[in-house]
Amino acid sequence: MNFRWDPAFTLGIDLGGTKILVGVVDREGNVISRAKRSTPASEGGPAIVTAILDAAGEAIQSSGLSSDQVALAGIGSPGPLDVHAGVIRWSANLNVRDFPIASELSRGLGCPVALENDVRAGGYAEYRLGAGRDYRNVVFAFVGTGIGGCVVVNGELIDGVTHNAGELGHMVIKVGGPRCGCGSRGCVESLASKTAIARRIQKAVRKGLPSVLGERIARKGRLKSRDLAEAVQAKDLVALNEVQRSAHFLGVGLGNLINVLGPEAVVIGGGVSHALGDSYTEMVANSAHNRAIADPEHVTIIRRAALGDNAGILGAAIIAQERFAQGEIPRAHHPESAQPALAAPPGSKA
Ligand SMILES: [Zn+2]
Repeated sequence: MNFRWDPAFTLGIDLGGTKILVGVVDREGNVISRAKRSTPASEGGPAIVTAILDAAGEAIQSSGLSSDQVALAGIGSPGPLDVHAGVIRWSANLNVRDFPIASELSRGLGCPVALENDVRAGGYAEYRLGAGRDYRNVVFAFVGTGIGGCVVVNGELIDGVTHNAGELGHMVIKVGGPRCGCGSRGCVESLASKTAIARRIQKAVRKGLPSVLGERIARKGRLKSRDLAEAVQAKDLVALNEVQRSAHFLGVGLGNLINVLGPEAVVIGGGVSHALGDSYTEMVANSAHNRAIADPEHVTIIRRAALGDNAGILGAAIIAQERFAQGEIPRAHHPESAQPALAAPPGSKA
């Protein structure tokens, strides 16, 4: 018997340090329902699995489908990961170590589960369905609490021999600069991320410069992208200045990458870019073009990501579909109970 298993609906899971987003994705790449939970980040792996399963149940229920119609799942997670074993090696944000998240979720969901790095999943979704879909050579940068990225060359998400290629947030652009979360100094992330913006705003406020954000950061314990965008809109000078500096530093890093890789497009996403909109992207583009000596005609297009916070859900789902179609999801991820369903999945066109 020869058949191709082509799941009509896939669960996409975006596991972040603060929130979990789960969505049901159809074959055309539409998110047909979503559910959200806070990440029980300090409670470890089993609590995270419980929260994901809870959100998955809600997303499936609100999609109007039955749970056996959703016969495949993908998850994007912070790492480092062992993608092929389905294991989170460790994560500073999740309090887990060597946790077999794919098999644990597979058992709970009753279907195969593919694991991928969260940033790579989001970038891949933008490449396939979003702002990068017209190109085959794209650099993706995601600016939030940290800065992540990935690179697509000739239509392939670059893995590298390290399996960690694309970490553009940790390019050093200011030797001896501010300490980065990675332990190095002067990385793009240490100068352009939301964490860097918040640190400089607090420093400016301590020096006596007025900003509505000083009090908000102190009260909430962190800078929210929405608060930053509101302050910029209200022409808060400290906020404006620090956003410009962030855009400048990110542009320096991206200009380097344009020189090295000559991509067709650079796509900028993440919470900061999403909240600040096109004006931030333009500032980054100006800074990048100013440094891209290899691109004097500004041939490389620099644009904002298009999928918002659905990118992680969509990327995880698409990667799961592709890996499964190519037979790359190891048998170990198939729960024993799901084996018969793989031969005759409900609703399949086998
Ligand atoms: Zn770093």
